[in-house]
Amino acid sequence: MIIGLTGGIASGKSTVARAFERLGIPWVDADDVAREVVAPGEPALAEIAERFGARVLNADGSLNRRALREIVFADADERRWLESVTHPRIRERLHAHLARLQAGDVPYGLLVSPLLFESGQAEMVDRCLVIDVPEAVQIARTAARDDVDESQARAIVAAQMPRAERLARADDVIDNGGDEAALAVQVRQLNQRYRRLSSTGRSSLE
Ligand code: ADP
Repeated sequence: MIIGLTGGIASGKSTVARAFERLGIPWVDADDVAREVVAPGEPALAEIAERFGARVLNADGSLNRRALREIVFADADERRWLESVTHPRIRERLHAHLARLQAGDVPYGLLVSPLLFESGQAEMVDRCLVIDVPEAVQIARTAARDDVDESQARAIVAAQMPRAERLARADDVIDNGGDEAALAVQVRQLNQRYRRLSSTGRSSLE
């Protein structure tokens, strides 16, 4: 059984993944795989360079992410084109990673992905777990962690999938508006539930 773990920026995805890991649950990070598919030598990078030219490449031939981000942020068609090039390749590689993970002796595994719903990865998992936080908390944690001020953090949050939409697609929700102790309690409870579910060979049972 694979659980897809998602949430907005600074909702606590990495923190939750580490808490599951301490309970013996492995995870695959979709962000890592997204970087792999545009590494030098990869066909996706060649296609991107062909479309946008040298302005999206660094001097060493690697992808200039900031330049590419600026292009696709300003043009929804180009963003869709980019997604059509990268998302299928990311899913393909994730399939391989998840198959390896499931070949091990583990009760279940996690796919940690900020774009679980936006990138078609939700279809690859058995259940979707959303890490939910009030927007004010999310903005404060983004500003504290990253090199952005509150208004920049607010703009990033506003550009992401709305909180209500994410929640509507969740099978399970962790409320990370509290402290780390409150978070740990929820992770332990879910871990027990997921272990029960995987031992029955079903992904839903209530
Ligand atoms: P994501 O992976 O979703 O971007 P992180 O797990 O990195 O989010 O968490 C964002 C920031 O908020 C980090 O600095 C983390 O230490 C902090 N954080 C996460 N959960 C809590 C919590 N329950 N209480 C206080 N700070 C938290």
